[in-house]
Amino acid sequence: MEYLFDAPPEFGETMEVAPGVHWLRMPLPMALDHINLWLIEDGPGWTLIDTGISSGLSKKMWSQVIEEHLGGRPINRIIVTHFHPDHVGMAGWLVAKTGAEFCMPRTEWLYARVLTIDTSEKFTDGMVEYYRRAGGSAEYLARLKERGPFFPGIVSDVPRGIQRIVDGESLDIGGQSWKIVVGNGHSPEHACLLCDALDLFISGDLILPKISPHIGVYADEPEANPLKDYLNTLAKFETLPGNVTVLPSHNEPFRGLHERREWLIQHHLDRLEDFVTACASPTNAIDIARQVFKRKLDSSQLGFAAAETVAHLNYLITEERIVRHADEDGVNLYQAC
Ligand SMILES: [Zn+2]
Repeated sequence: MEYLFDAPPEFGETMEVAPGVHWLRMPLPMALDHINLWLIEDGPGWTLIDTGISSGLSKKMWSQVIEEHLGGRPINRIIVTHFHPDHVGMAGWLVAKTGAEFCMPRTEWLYARVLTIDTSEKFTDGMVEYYRRAGGSAEYLARLKERGPFFPGIVSDVPRGIQRIVDGESLDIGGQSWKIVVGNGHSPEHACLLCDALDLFISGDLILPKISPHIGVYADEPEANPLKDYLNTLAKFETLPGNVTVLPSHNEPFRGLHERREWLIQHHLDRLEDFVTACASPTNAIDIARQVFKRKLDSSQLGFAAAETVAHLNYLITEERIVRHADEDGVNLYQAC
């Protein structure tokens, strides 16, 4: 893998990475402290890919970017790759401010809408029950219950309608053809964008250079097998041109798509063996997560780690490598066959 730039742009500043394609970095209030957004010159205006998390700081930075870095040209179109808050968070605010057309894959938009609207106690109870079955301590569950739904706090009002984008179709952006390439596993219908003429691949969170994209199972679909979806997507991406510059949502642009793709496949295959080893005797998902991730997981990391663990365990159940049964309290225990 080869990195193409010595340093990323400062937060709220832009850097041209290919003719008419500009890299904008926005801060995130978490361990992964930034997200990359892409501004593409598009006729008299701009097309923006992804928007950042909703926060006072994001609003301040976006106001500044619109005033100082866009040459007085309007954002006419916003494309959001998937429903996660760091991608869709500022979309509603930006659409209200700019009147831009709003494009998103249908399932991703539906998730974003549902998760910002449902602030009911039942929603929180479902989440708490999911982590109880995963082996969460009473203290951890009480904290989840108290926190409640976190999505509405970091995602501004999601637009009521979309221009749907679909796998395989092409969009004209700035006179170039950009093909929508949908992948699954990290989220239900994640859109990437490929421009053959510019040799660019906007990979969102599906291919990242330094971290492995999060693959998790959550309360909304506890029997899901997103790791299978993700491995299928990595296999499908074999047909993408290998010489593209990958523009990922986190860390830096790079060349070496297929080296990275193969590394990610091998990483998960190795991880699966670690999970089988951790299931030598009947164990719940959170205790398995602690064994496999081999570091102290604070309460903010524990939910992601448990979700990632269940994704691997569900995959192994489908492969008949492990079995699951519930103990007398309904906590799921996993054991290697
Ligand atoms: Zn994501």
